[in-house]
Formats: sequence, C-alpha cells, structure tokens
Amino acid sequence: MCCPLRLLPGPSQAEQRTLIGWQLRLSRKLERVPGRRPQAFRWTLRLHKLVKLRRLVVWAQAFFFISAPELPILVIVLGDSLLALALILLYQLLLNFINLRHFNMVGTPELRDLPPPPLPKRSFDVAIIGAGIVGNALAVALGNQGRSVLLLERDLSEPNRIVGELLQPGGVRALAQLGLQDCMDEIDSVPNYGYQVRYHNKPVQIPYAREENGKRPEGRCFHHGRFIQRLRAAAKAAPNVTIVEATVSKDLIRNAGHVVGVRCTPRGTKDEICYFASLTVAADGCKSNLRADAISRTPEVKSHFFGLELIDAKMPLKNHGIVILCNRAPVLVYQIGTHETRALVDIRGKPPSQADGSLKAYMLGAVLPTMPEELQPSFRKAIEDSKSIRSMPNQWLPPTANRTPGLMLLGDAMNMRHPLTGGGMTVAFNDVVLLRDLLEGVSDLSDTDLVLEKMEEFHWRRRNLTSVINILAQALYALFAADDPNLKVLQRGCFNYFQRGGICIDHPVGLLSGVLRKPLVLYTHFFAVAFYSIWIMFKTSSPLLWPMCIFRSFAVFYTACVVILPYIATEQQS
Ligand SMILES: Cc1cc2nc3c(=O)[nH]c(=O)nc-3n(C[C@H](O)[C@H](O)[C@H](O)COP(=O)(O)OP(=O)(O)OC[C@H]3O[C@@H](n4cnc5c(N)ncnc54)[C@H](O)[C@@H]3O)c2cc1C
Repeated sequence: MCCPLRLLPGPSQAEQRTLIGWQLRLSRKLERVPGRRPQAFRWTLRLHKLVKLRRLVVWAQAFFFISAPELPILVIVLGDSLLALALILLYQLLLNFINLRHFNMVGTPELRDLPPPPLPKRSFDVAIIGAGIVGNALAVALGNQGRSVLLLERDLSEPNRIVGELLQPGGVRALAQLGLQDCMDEIDSVPNYGYQVRYHNKPVQIPYAREENGKRPEGRCFHHGRFIQRLRAAAKAAPNVTIVEATVSKDLIRNAGHVVGVRCTPRGTKDEICYFASLTVAADGCKSNLRADAISRTPEVKSHFFGLELIDAKMPLKNHGIVILCNRAPVLVYQIGTHETRALVDIRGKPPSQADGSLKAYMLGAVLPTMPEELQPSFRKAIEDSKSIRSMPNQWLPPTANRTPGLMLLGDAMNMRHPLTGGGMTVAFNDVVLLRDLLEGVSDLSDTDLVLEKMEEFHWRRRNLTSVINILAQALYALFAADDPNLKVLQRGCFNYFQRGGICIDHPVGLLSGVLRKPLVLYTHFFAVAFYSIWIMFKTSSPLLWPMCIFRSFAVFYTACVVILPYIATEQQS
C-alpha cells in the first residue's frame, strides 16, 4: 500500500515515515474491527475522520513539493489519492457488513423471546376509543383515579341520533356514583316515572317500583346529542384527561400479541399518528371496527327502529314511556324535551323502501291507526314533514370476557340487547362503576396479568345486572313483537299478568329499570307469565275447546322455553 510513496522521489524520508505511519495505523485498526461490533462502529467513524485527515496530508504534500519535478509530485498525489479512495471504499464495505450483522441479529429466535420493550415516554395509562356514553364516563372515572387518559373521538360535534334517550333509574344511580348527575341538567331533560303498556289500546300503568325508603325512583329522558355533549364537557374538565379528535384505525399497535397503542388520523389531516397506552379500551359503539380483532361473536340484527320526532305531542300519560302493542311489532313513545317526543317504530325483517315512499305509506296506513288517538295528529305530521325517516338496527350481542392483553371492549362494542327496554346506557354506566372499582387496586395498568385477572372478574361480576337487562330485553321483545299464535298467547298472558299489579309489575319493572339485580326473580316471573298465559287461554276458551287447549298449552310452554333458554345459556358463557 505504501510502495508508491517509498519508490518515488519527492517527500523527505521523515515525511515519508509519517505518511507510512498513518497508513500502518489505519490498516491495524481495520484488522481489529471484526468481532467487536459496537466498537467496530465507533472505529469506522474515527476511520472516516482519519481518511479525511489523510487526504489533507496528501494535498499538503502536493503543495509543499510544488518546486520538485512535476511527474513525481503527480504520482505522489495520485498514489495517495487512490489510497484514500481505497480506504473510503473499505470503510463503506465495513459499514455494510456491520448493518448486515445488525439486521440478522433482530431475526434471531433468542431475541424474539425478549419481553416487550419499555413503552416510549409519550404514552398514556389508558387510551379510550370513542367519546360516547361509555368512553366519556370511563375517562372521567379513570382520570379522577389519577391515571393519564387519552380519549379519542372521530367527531366532537353534537351527535344527532335516535339512540340513548331514556335513562332508567338504575342508570341514573350509576351516573350519580360517577359524579356525573349534573350532565342531565340544563339540557331540557324530562323525568320519567315508568311505563304505560297499551295492548290493542287497553292501557295498564307500570310505575317504577318503590325503593326501600318508600320513594319511587326516577328515570330521565333527553336529547341524546345534548347529553353526550355534557358528558364530553365533563371529560374535558376532568383531571388527567386529554381529548383528541381523531379517527382510530382498526389496526392497533401490537407487540408480541399485546395491544400497546393505537393508530389514528386527527380530524382535518391525512397523517396517521400513534399513541401508546398500557390499556386500550374500545368503546366505539355498535358498529365497532375493533370488535372483530378481539372477539369471535358477531351482532345479530333482530329488527330496525325507525325514529320520528313529534312536536308538542299530547301524551296519553305524562312522564311515562308508552309501549303500544297490537298485531305488529311494538311502537315506543317517550318525551325527550319540553316540546319534542320520540316515537320509535319497530319493523321486523326487510323494512319497506324509503326511496319509493313505501315506508311513509306503511307508517300512515298500518302504524298510525294503532296509535293512541291523542298522539295521532303529531305522529301524522312528523311522518309527512320528515324528508327521510332515520333508522337504526336493533342488535343482539351477548357479552364476551376480554382476554386480549392490553385491550378491553366495553359498551355496545362488547354487548348489545334490543333497545325496547332502554337498558343500554344503564348497563354502560354500571359497567364503568364496576370497572373503576376493580381497577382501583391496580397501581400499574401495564401489569397485564393482573389487568386480565380483573377483566375476568369484571365479566362475571357484571352479570347479575346485565344478564337481567339483556335477557329481559330479548324475551320481552319476542313477546311484544309476537308473530306466531303461541307467542300471541304469551303476549296476551303477559299483559293480563301486568294487570294484576303488585309484584306482577313491581318486580318486572324493577328488573327492567336496573334496580332489581336478581336473575332468579326474572326467570320466576317469566315462567309465571307462561303458566298464567296458559290459564288465561283455558279461561277464555269454551270448555268444548279445552282438549285442544291441553295440546296447545304444551306448545305455548315449549315456545316460552325456546324464547328464554338460549339467552340464559349464552349469558352463562364466557
Ligand atoms: C334505536 C336505539 C335506541 C336506543 N335507545 C336507548 C335508550 O333509550 N336508553 C338506553 O339506555 N339505551 C338505548 N340504546 C342503546 C344505547 O344507545 C347504547 O347502549 C349506548 O349508546 C352505548 O354506548 P357506547 O359508548 O358503547 O357507544 P356510543 O354511545 O355509540 O359511542 C361510540 C362513540 O365512538 C365513536 N367512534 C366510533 N368509531 C370510532 C373511531 N374509529 N375512532 C374514534 N371514535 C370512534 C363514535 O363517534 C361515538 O361517539 C338504544 C339503541 C338503539 C339502537
């Protein structure tokens, strides 16, 4: 390597020795590099500096020997430049070699078994997807526990939906336990004291059952959007809560099977950003796009609710939800503001088309005549005035225990029931209360095993309330939307059962309102209704028909079992 310098005249011997010394040292360092990977990297950097210095020396030589014959100078310059070039190439090769080694290292099996890397500094204790009913309440509850909470919502403007407008007393109580009862104030909400069920226009009043202190509890009706905005304001004001308006992608960030964060696109941008959290809660509602990632169950659409807003409607019974039963699926009516009343018309199977006007024709021709007389004018006007009638699917999704490390599904994303009994928000707020209490003892949410243990406990402990609300909603809907003769016997029997009053209404309404949390009481009343329906069938039939009634009573009892037992079974599963 040093031959050109030694053979050619030009630099003095001392200068030549210096140059040769540089080259020798460089080559020695290069030889030492393999096998010492981290060192080697540092050496290549130093080498880079040396090569630069070497070039300076060469150019200094050229300048210094400018008076010498031209040829040797050129050869020296050329020789040293080539040498410098060779060293640079060598250095590049070395770098590639190191990169290659480094790349291979990540893929080695021993390293795959490493525990997940520590979370980056810019991370949260909890990331909640969806600032709806569950998301806001949970953000407030966990923020108050001193945890850093990130709440992600795709649209922070006031929602305009036909869902979540009647909060049962059991939900009102849970809201108070979360310190959020104020959210029902200043939104023109209306108190609700129970139901009136109308069977072919014969009414029966079902007030909420008295509590131990002798008082009748109160539910509340409101505009969903206004309530949500109040909940969001509470979340914004809560300590440790950061709200970001962004749509979360369904591809969560995972590390060795653990969910460690979310990818989202902030509103008004196209760039995807990442947030990291010890626990990610998917509270993104009935159309959750994260559900499929965590559970295998899919929601079953039972029917659709078509929603109308009646203005200044004359209610048959003030401050009560009205349930209208006839030969079709039920209609539910309740006041949501001083001047506004919601009517939800249930339609089973394929609904009539909006586009060709069949839906309006159906509403005017088939539904309107079955409505209480005092409601008919406002109902007719609402149909005629509405450009398009909004609808929502009524779905059934039994609960599933959360078993994905780092991820939890909550609210409609995890569990849904028919909204006829207005139980969704009551379940949601009670779930938040239970989860808050269970996580109270968990100091570090990245302790995945402990969190998973708590989630299992959550799944089983919520059942007393939620299974009651879920099964009741599904069973009552089957009876109220009776579409076969045996179900019609049960429907009539159920109405007559309510007419008996006393515990025949106090217990069922206590279960429905989320106050009475005893599944056994539900099963007892359900089968009491089945036997009472059979008894009514005999009572109202001529003795000549009794032999047929005996045969029919088996069919009715079998139908009752088919209505309730599958729901009880799914609620027992994990
Ligand atoms: C027709 C109908 C009527 C109902 N009526 C009642 C009633 O009267 N009383 C009652 O108690 N229950 C009722 N329910 C049920 C109730 O509405 C739900 O149980 C409740 O709203 C569930 O709350 P949630 O927080 O799970 O979902 P939601 O309240 O739906 O909240 C989900 C939130 O997530 C956001 N989101 C979704 N995807 C993303 C994403 N990718 N990124 C960021 N944000 C996202 C949404 O914008 C939304 O704000 C009704 C349901 C239906 C279908």
